[in-house]
Amino acid sequence: MVDRVVFIARDIIEENRKLAEGLRRLYDRLGLTVLEFLGGPGSGKTTLIERLLELFTRDYDPHEIVYIGGDVATSLDTERIARFGVHAIQINTGGTCHLEVPHVEAALEKLGGEEFLRGKKFLIIENVGNIICPFNFPLGAHARVMVADVTEGEDKFVKHPMSTRVSDVIVINKIDLADYLGVNLDKMIEDARRINPRARIFLVSARTGAGVGELYEALKGVRGG
Ligand code: MG
Ligand code: ZN
Repeated sequence: MVDRVVFIARDIIEENRKLAEGLRRLYDRLGLTVLEFLGGPGSGKTTLIERLLELFTRDYDPHEIVYIGGDVATSLDTERIARFGVHAIQINTGGTCHLEVPHVEAALEKLGGEEFLRGKKFLIIENVGNIICPFNFPLGAHARVMVADVTEGEDKFVKHPMSTRVSDVIVINKIDLADYLGVNLDKMIEDARRINPRARIFLVSARTGAGVGELYEALKGVRGG
């Protein structure tokens, strides 16, 4: 055994959690379903959102859909998403490795606040690529979607139990690569289930589209569905 010291950044986390409750009340008052995507850099969050938007924009008017992309410095992801004709706005955190409630509030305000949001059906938030701290800062979403991919290693969920535990939906992405990498998907599913028995788990490949349809059906029904 080694010695260790554990720190918990309790105050800022608690403060953000309270603010997130306020955001959730706003979303609920407006009838807006909010989906937040979280996961490490390169896990395929943006590509997965693109595949999902192909389905969302088949069933809904693109103008009823809003995307907020969190990124440290670029607007590359948001440019990709804007091609679907949805409202898309970038938040550059200026180095901060996760979004907090004031970031989202500022983005919504910039879009036109409550007036703008009235009549909108879905808000999709893509958090900064990071497997740890974004999970500690809820943004009031109805579903927090953890995107993990097989290239990150089979022990992903075991190594990040807190992130796994707070997620409502767990997506294992890039399953088309599992065989090449010798990844045991059953073990990954088993780990995720053990750590978070209440989460719904989906196996997908955002690249080939495998499993995306089922995920879409689940996500569009998140609120009251
Ligand atoms: Mg991205
Ligand atoms: Zn952070």
